[in-house]
Order: sequence, then C-alpha cells, then structure tokens
Amino acid sequence: MSTKPTTQPIQNSDKPLEELQDESILKLLQVLDKVRAEEMSCDDFFDQLDQFVEREVKSKDAAMIMPLIREHLDLCPPCSDEYEALLTILENIQEE
Ligand SMILES: [Zn+2]
Repeated sequence: MSTKPTTQPIQNSDKPLEELQDESILKLLQVLDKVRAEEMSCDDFFDQLDQFVEREVKSKDAAMIMPLIREHLDLCPPCSDEYEALLTILENIQEE
C-alpha cells in the first residue's frame, strides 16, 4: 500500500466538490481488504515467493508487479519472515 503525496493544490472552483461519504468508503475498503486477504492464501504466497524475491532483488519492483504478494506480507507475519529470509539469501548470492 503506497500513498503518493499529492502536490497539486486543491483549487476552489465554482463547482463545489461532492462530499465523500467517509463511512461508506470505509466499509468498501474493509470489504476489499477481506476479499484480497482471501484471494491470497499462504500456499499461493509460497508458490510465488521465489519469483517475487528474485524480482525484488533484480529490479526492486516486485511489489508493483505482484501487489498481492506484497499485501500478504503485510497481513501475515510468518510469511513475511520467510520472505525476509529468502531475500537475505538471494541478496548474498547476488553480491558474490
Ligand atoms: Zn501467509
């Protein structure tokens, strides 16, 4: 999850922006979170972990290419540990 800083100033125009309904957006986000978490199981994660780590080591854009993996890392500490371990190994190999 990345939030890019908005540098554009908010301009006051004649047309007032419709106010967003925070509560319904929050609910929507919660639903999306749930769906996403269910999409990626730990098994799925491990299936793609090698690929993800290789990508990360080579081009540092793994999280962009495979956002579900990135998300699972955030949601699942045990998988995150595995990822860190594998990343460390691959980085050491690359340095040799
Ligand atoms: Zn997991």
